[in-house]
Amino acid sequence: MTFTIVFLIAFIASFGLRHWLSQRQIRHVAEHRDAVPAEFAEKVTLAEHQKAADYTIAKLRLAILENGVSAIILIAFTLLGGLEILNIALLQLLGEGITQQIALLASIALISGVIDLPFSWYKQFYLEERFGFNRMGKKLFFTDLLKGVALGTAIGLPLLWVILTLMLKAGDLWWLWAWAVLSVFSLLMQWIFPTFIAPLFNKFQALEDGPLKTQIEALLTRCDFASQGLFVMDGSKRSAHGNAFFAGMGKAKRIVFFDTLIEKLNPGEVEAVLAHELGHFKCKHIRKRLIVSFALSFAMFALLGWISTQVWFYTDLGVMPNLNGYNGGLALALFMLVSPVFSFFLTPLGSLASRKHEYEADGFAAEKSSAKDLISALVKLYQDNASTLTPDPIYTAFYSSHPPAPLRIANLHRFSS
Ligand SMILES: [Zn+2]
Repeated sequence: MTFTIVFLIAFIASFGLRHWLSQRQIRHVAEHRDAVPAEFAEKVTLAEHQKAADYTIAKLRLAILENGVSAIILIAFTLLGGLEILNIALLQLLGEGITQQIALLASIALISGVIDLPFSWYKQFYLEERFGFNRMGKKLFFTDLLKGVALGTAIGLPLLWVILTLMLKAGDLWWLWAWAVLSVFSLLMQWIFPTFIAPLFNKFQALEDGPLKTQIEALLTRCDFASQGLFVMDGSKRSAHGNAFFAGMGKAKRIVFFDTLIEKLNPGEVEAVLAHELGHFKCKHIRKRLIVSFALSFAMFALLGWISTQVWFYTDLGVMPNLNGYNGGLALALFMLVSPVFSFFLTPLGSLASRKHEYEADGFAAEKSSAKDLISALVKLYQDNASTLTPDPIYTAFYSSHPPAPLRIANLHRFSS
């Protein structure tokens, strides 16, 4: 019973905290809806500022509803016995074995996917549509969904089979092997994703010759950065939001611009945005994030290795284990359902590190490109993406991977003067 109580306390605290943070952000954005912050007054109109406020609030209201629904699902699966019922039904149907365990995990993924579907639908075709960001037809929504499920099955099932087999046969240190397999897999994905998976969803075309390409190549030389080409991705197929990113590692690095970014920014601004992204690379943020994620998953697997042998972990969360036989599927399912309730409290640490990295990358961009161009690019992107310029400080501290707009711009002004 002790663990039931610990779980319930963490569950209520994390649900309540999420809800409270969203409400705070809604209130703060609504309070500042009627005036553009002074430092943006020349560039952002009141209408644009109000659109950003309304869009931010609409997204938060949806997040509040989703938070409620996922809380209900979590309790239904655990304390109300949903997982136990599903497990027994599949045991009767398939008998004990790896197939039954894979079926258990696949059913949970399927159920969560089906519950999530109306939310993604609403988000794309009502929320994004209402604010003019949706460019996706309903047919594309379903082909994306089917491709996603097919890929998830093709990649997920073999991986799951390997992990469940290790749990069964590799002895007490199975978790170490499973962690190693998953780490190697995620390194492989850095290469597989841009090369084979991303092209299934988008078209990538080489950036055309012209002033932009010349300017970008000069930046790359200045930063001493070798890439495997500059590409433009048809992001406009789905959304009007713009972005730039890197894909791949080592020598297979590609630089990818969303077509929407190139439409909206002038060459100097595109260069500044890319210089910021190069900053993440040059300041070794990408490598640091990868190492931290390996360390965290090591800790999680070690915890799973131990907790999966404890009877209370199952019984206190509403399921009966079979610790002498095929139990891995049940342990994985329970761990994946329950661990986010606890790890949620670590969110501010990740956000803090990320904001620090953003400032460093901005500093790099200011040095190698132009702080002035980056400022005007950011203002355009805030406008175009209807990002709020007046976020709540506590909400920002907890969640935001990027510094709030006024602080970020003020920091860049230090370089441009
Ligand atoms: Zn960044």
